[in-house]
Parts: sequence; structure tokens; C-alpha cells
Amino acid sequence: MQFQTARLTHWLAALACLCVSVVAQSKIKLDKPQKIKDWGYGIRTLEGWDAIAIKPEERFVVGHWKLNTDDMKKRGLYEEYQAGSYCDLSILRISNVTVTGKPKTEEELKKEAELKKKLEISPELEKLLNPKSFDELLSAMHKDSDKRWVRKPFKAGKLEGELIEFGADAEAHTIAYFKHNGIEWAAWYQAFEESNRKTYRDWYLKSLETFELFEPTNSDVIAMARKDPNKLKGEEKREALKSSIAGTPGWYAIDAKHYVFLTNSTNKAFLQQIAKDLEIVREKIYVKMFPPRNEEEPISPVRVLDTESEYYKYGGPRGSAGYFNPRSGELVLFTKFEDVTKTNSMAYCRSVMFHEAFHQYIHFAVGDVSPHSWFNEGHGDYFAGMTVKGGVIKFEPFDWRVDYLKSHIREKKDLIPLRTLLRLPQREYYTNAGLKYSQGWALIYYLRQVSKDAAAKASLDGYFKFVADNIEAFRAKKKEGEGSDTGGESVPGIPGIEIPDFEDAKKVEEILSQAVDTAFKGIDLEALDKDFRAWVEKL
Ligand SMILES: [Zn+2]
Repeated sequence: MQFQTARLTHWLAALACLCVSVVAQSKIKLDKPQKIKDWGYGIRTLEGWDAIAIKPEERFVVGHWKLNTDDMKKRGLYEEYQAGSYCDLSILRISNVTVTGKPKTEEELKKEAELKKKLEISPELEKLLNPKSFDELLSAMHKDSDKRWVRKPFKAGKLEGELIEFGADAEAHTIAYFKHNGIEWAAWYQAFEESNRKTYRDWYLKSLETFELFEPTNSDVIAMARKDPNKLKGEEKREALKSSIAGTPGWYAIDAKHYVFLTNSTNKAFLQQIAKDLEIVREKIYVKMFPPRNEEEPISPVRVLDTESEYYKYGGPRGSAGYFNPRSGELVLFTKFEDVTKTNSMAYCRSVMFHEAFHQYIHFAVGDVSPHSWFNEGHGDYFAGMTVKGGVIKFEPFDWRVDYLKSHIREKKDLIPLRTLLRLPQREYYTNAGLKYSQGWALIYYLRQVSKDAAAKASLDGYFKFVADNIEAFRAKKKEGEGSDTGGESVPGIPGIEIPDFEDAKKVEEILSQAVDTAFKGIDLEALDKDFRAWVEKL
């Protein structure tokens, strides 16, 4: 469900000039002190390092910084850029004080143990997911680290702890470890193994010596942050989402009725506007066009990073301009596109938001099932072309797809027959995706805004109703047959692991195929294809 773009980045060009360069040690400096009041710690990081957003699944991380390598990349300093991309600082906090609410019942514990057995969760994996101590986490993350490391006493001001150093993969790890009031803290630097001692280690040690602990100002953050937002609802979920940015300087939250925007955008006015507009679009468009099957009022996270490079660092797939993560329920965007004017950047960001927010809406309103891609991506792009001004919504042709189709037609290339397009499963949609996304957009726009054929226009609602009804019926039936063990659910207490159910996937494919049969029954597809092509050729 990534938003497809066909832009080439600077990167290809930069590879052509391989200049060898090493960061001169004298250029490195300590940055001003960072005080993370919510968590109660402080550290002076290094100059030119940026605070990075913490992902919801990084449960023990309360601070994350990375060296900003944008300039090295721009200047084509390939080796420097590669080495620099290893430079990383994470602050970990491991508390054995249980703050996850009421204790688990015996039955819950039994069920959890059974599921773990079924999933073959090894003791090693268990240590990684729910470590009892920092040492346990370290040994689970890096096998034999205890046989490689050097540990010695370390002091940061009045704090007494240990310095742990070892190598793993291509990284050198330099960790200051402290235990304070029953809580374990680790300030963990990484560098490329070839440039650690020559360039970074001395500065890492200077920075680690500035680590300090003080009384946290916000006990709510600490209580909420260990909770998995996906298991919470309503205001409690909202608070847990907000607590996830507490350790990251420059980040703030904006509330809308059904959304929490988490962002470090420097353009706050723009963020406030799009948060407002998304709420309007949800209410006036998504809910009206696709009535929810789920009565619950969801609260959904929307993460907006300031720049394109921060978006990739956060995990945005290359070549994408936004994505929806069904696992965390999070929609991820950025505001500043590289080599794009500020006005266009903002317009792109809005387009991507309306596209991805549609996927997010369907996921919660109907369930985690994806309709055919022509329907799913086609509607995403249909909404991407929307403008919202003063609460008034207008549907305009989405220029990314229009431009693609115009040049396609100019070059006298073939279009995909509707008969084929309507049947393409997701994996086939991603091959030669540019054409498929563009034709998918065109089909939805044509049927919703252009065609005068009432039966053809009704096919879209017919398709959606069939999918929603039958997925729901299939789920209900399955539940009845199997009791509460529905498969596919995540393991309680262990985030991020799901049991893939291939039987479900096969059944869903069948339902989607029948949906096309039903929705286009009685419609002359060849005639529709002819009219549709004629319209595309005139775009
Ligand atoms: Zn999409």
C-alpha cells in the first residue's frame, strides 16, 4: 500500500563521483545539553546529530539520535556517508516495575504460554521481547556479546556505572550502563567498525560522561509508555500515543476527533490545517462513501516527519512518499519533498495523506482486508486529487496519474484492458505499477465523475458492499466454528507477532473474485472499456 512515485533521487548521481574522505576529529563537538524532562534524563549529544522518532514497537527506547548525513550524500562523499549512517545513539530504560495495569489472570497466563508454544517462541526471542534486565536484552540482541565485550567502571558526574564495549556485524558498540533506583539505563552509541577508534570513540565517551538522571516530571508518560496503544481504546489510546513522543525533542502532538498527529514538522500551521481537513474528509467522504461496519470510534495515529530524509530514516520504503502500517495502525508522511517547491511539497503531502488515510480508514472501518488494488489504490488516488478549502471538498483529476497517462498516450503505448485490470491481485498490481496505479485512478475517477451510465457507476458501491458483507459473514462464521481462537490475532503481551492464516487468504481471494462477478454482472465490459479508453486518450 505504499504510495508509488517514480522520482529518481540524487543518490544515483552521487555514486558517480566516489570521493574518499574521513571526518576530521577536530570537526566533532559536543552539542548543547538535551534534557528529557518527561523521562528524567539528560545528555549532551554530538553536534549535527538529529533526534529521531521512536517507533511504537521500540518499547525500551526513550531517546534516539542519529548523525545527519544529508550533506555528505549531497556532496557525493560516499564513504563518509556510508560510515556516518552507522552513527547512532539510543537511550534505553528498562524497568521491572509492572505498570501495564491489572495483573494477568491464571487463565490469561495459560493461554499466553500455549500461544508461545504454538508459535515456537524460543527463550531467546522471549528475552528480546520481554527482557528482565539489560544484560538479558544485550545477550539476546547480540549472541556471545558477553564473550566479546570489555566492561569496566565508568563515571558520569555523580553516577557510577559501567562502560561496555564490543563489536558485532560491522558495528562497534560503546555503552554507558547505569542502575539507579531499581531502573536500568543504557546510553548506547554505535559506529562503523572501521571508523570507531579513529574518529568517534573519544567523542562518544565525552558525551557519555554528560549523562545524568533526575526526577521525571511526568509520571503519566512513564505509566503509559509501556502500554501497547493497539490494545487500548479511546482517550487512553490517545494518551499512550502521545507518550510515545515524550523522549524526542522537537516533537509535538495535534489532536483531532479521530486522529492523533505526531509530528516534528516546523510548519505547525500547516499541520493544524491538515489535521482539521482530514477530520472533515473522514466525516464527509470516507464515512459517507464507505459506511463503517465497526461501531467503535477509532483513534488513529498519523505520523508526519519534517523532511524526506527523516522519513526514510524512520522506515519509509524507498521510492514511496507515505505508507500505512496495518500492524501499528500508523499512517506515516513527511512535509518537505527534496527538490520540490514549498507549495508543491505541501500539496503532495496532502495528496499522500488523503490516499493513505483512506487505507487506514478501511482497515479500521471494515477490517484488515484489502479489496482489489484497482479499487483500493484507485480510490486512494481519487482522494489524493481532492481539494479541501474552507470545509468545501472538490474532486479534481490527480495530476501525478494524469501526467503519466498523458505521456503514455502520447507515446502510443497500450492500455491494460478493463477485463484484466479488474482481476489483478495485489502482487501483479505492483509489477509495472506506474501504469496500473494510473489506470486504477482513471477508472475510479471516470466511474465516479465522468460516466453517465448509472449501472456502471453503481458497480463500485456494489463491489464494496459485497466485499464488506462477505468478509464480515466469513469472519462471523469462522468465529462460531472455532470458538474464540480466530487465528491471526497477535500474541498477548508480545507485540508484533501474528499467525499467518493461509486458509483465510484463499477464502478472501474467492470473495474478491465473486465481488467483481457480482458488481459487473449485466455490464457490457467491452463497451465500458471503449468509452473509458476514449476518455483517457483525451485527458
Ligand atoms: Zn495505496
